[in-house]
Amino acid sequence: MTLDELTTAIGGTIIRPGDPDWDAARRFHSGIGEPAVVIRASNVDDVRGALRYAAAERLDVMVRSGGHSAWGQVPGGVTIDLSALDDVSVDGTRVSVGGGAQWGAIARALGAQGLGLSSGDTASVGVGGLTLGGGIGWMVRAWGLASDQLVGAQLVTASGDVVEVSASSHPDLFWALRGGGGNFGVVTRFDFDAHRLDGVVHAVFGIEGDARPALRALAGLMKTAPRELTLTYMDVPPMDPSAPAGATITAVWIGTDEEAARRALAPLREVPGIIAREIGVQQYADILLQTPEFDPESPMPGFVGGNTLLRDLGDDAIDRLVTFHEQNPASVVFLRSLGGAYGDVAQADSPFPARDATWFAMAGAFDIPGMLDDARRAEVTAEWDAIEALGGGVYGNFTTSTDPSWPERMYQPETMGRLAAIKREWDPANVFCRNHNVRPA
Ligand SMILES: Cc1cc2nc3c(=O)[nH]c(=O)nc-3n(C[C@H](O)[C@H](O)[C@H](O)COP(=O)(O)OP(=O)(O)OC[C@H]3O[C@@H](n4cnc5c(N)ncnc54)[C@H](O)[C@@H]3O)c2cc1C
Repeated sequence: MTLDELTTAIGGTIIRPGDPDWDAARRFHSGIGEPAVVIRASNVDDVRGALRYAAAERLDVMVRSGGHSAWGQVPGGVTIDLSALDDVSVDGTRVSVGGGAQWGAIARALGAQGLGLSSGDTASVGVGGLTLGGGIGWMVRAWGLASDQLVGAQLVTASGDVVEVSASSHPDLFWALRGGGGNFGVVTRFDFDAHRLDGVVHAVFGIEGDARPALRALAGLMKTAPRELTLTYMDVPPMDPSAPAGATITAVWIGTDEEAARRALAPLREVPGIIAREIGVQQYADILLQTPEFDPESPMPGFVGGNTLLRDLGDDAIDRLVTFHEQNPASVVFLRSLGGAYGDVAQADSPFPARDATWFAMAGAFDIPGMLDDARRAEVTAEWDAIEALGGGVYGNFTTSTDPSWPERMYQPETMGRLAAIKREWDPANVFCRNHNVRPA
């Protein structure tokens, strides 16, 4: 099949080099890629046609939802752009979402109906990559990961078949989709069970001076906090446009009961150095808009560091994380509370690692030429490795690394074996490889 034949066969748009919107189409969150063609699918048959074309021409494939991952585009290959598959339909609390919808638009559509889904923290992230990799968001302690809310999916397989996947239809594939990444096919529709949500209480605190006492207070608070409460801690240098500079705690409480949220957060107000900045009721969709977007024209430098899922935010972890930031002023430290509904899911019930974790931690020193030489880079790597060793697994969505070693680090051997066997059944030729790639067993 030629591209011209495909052009007449599909309802979507084919964008080639030289077309007026070529540059916009090959842009992704952190850069501009060099695919041979971008096929913007408008329905399931377009996705099948794109896969047929790529197979006939022996071209590599990239599936793109929100375009926020480091894989971005596929050099010399076919990007299947799902951004036009962005319908959100609601039937009671059952919500069906097109495979290229963005979380901000989903939250806005659901908010209008008094519903919510736990997603991530940023409006423009796609439902595809975030859900298939897990999805740690503002309601993770009450509702679990984004993928924990998944009850079904429509999948176009590598062979072009369209399958309905759920706990009762291809249950192995359903298991794999809830944390195994985009390895198994193109998800054209995600079905979720949503929750009643009339709004959230959003609170921000600043931290002055040594962050250790504040972090110890956070760790203590979250041991007994109601599941309605989720917290993040961020310490960001002024050069990073992804968040306000300095150390901050942000809290989200599910529901509009501001008094209950204030009561839950009251212990923080007693801690010297923690300064209450704002609190108020907001719509969840508005919270997602508050995370600043990166500017693709000035991509972020790389990081030396990583992430880890901590069973406990103990004094050792706190000290190492704060010391990491002190020794690397141009660095980011990021913590998110877990536990609650996240931990209700048995480890074997999804591929996602470390269900016993109560905190997610991430730290990275910006790898800026002139700032880190080889010797210092090695030291920072060792500092980070000591922190990662305290955790029980790593989260693949929160890395800009495309190193093929990641899947082995993300999944326990038993999980990896099960994913590889499912991969062999559904994608033996490894068509879907621009991801944390699970190779067919
Ligand atoms: C600014 C920013 C904020 C973030 N915030 C959070 C957060 O709060 N919580 C969190 O957990 N993560 C967060 N992330 C990480 C995010 O979950 C990952 O980057 C994720 O991969 C992005 O998904 P995407 O669809 O936008 O990316 P894409 O690059 O489009 O896709 C990512 C991967 O998923 C595959 N894929 C995407 N859609 C489909 C589909 N429909 N079918 C099959 N395969 C598909 C792609 O092939 C690719 O391998 C954030 C990332 C950024 C850059």
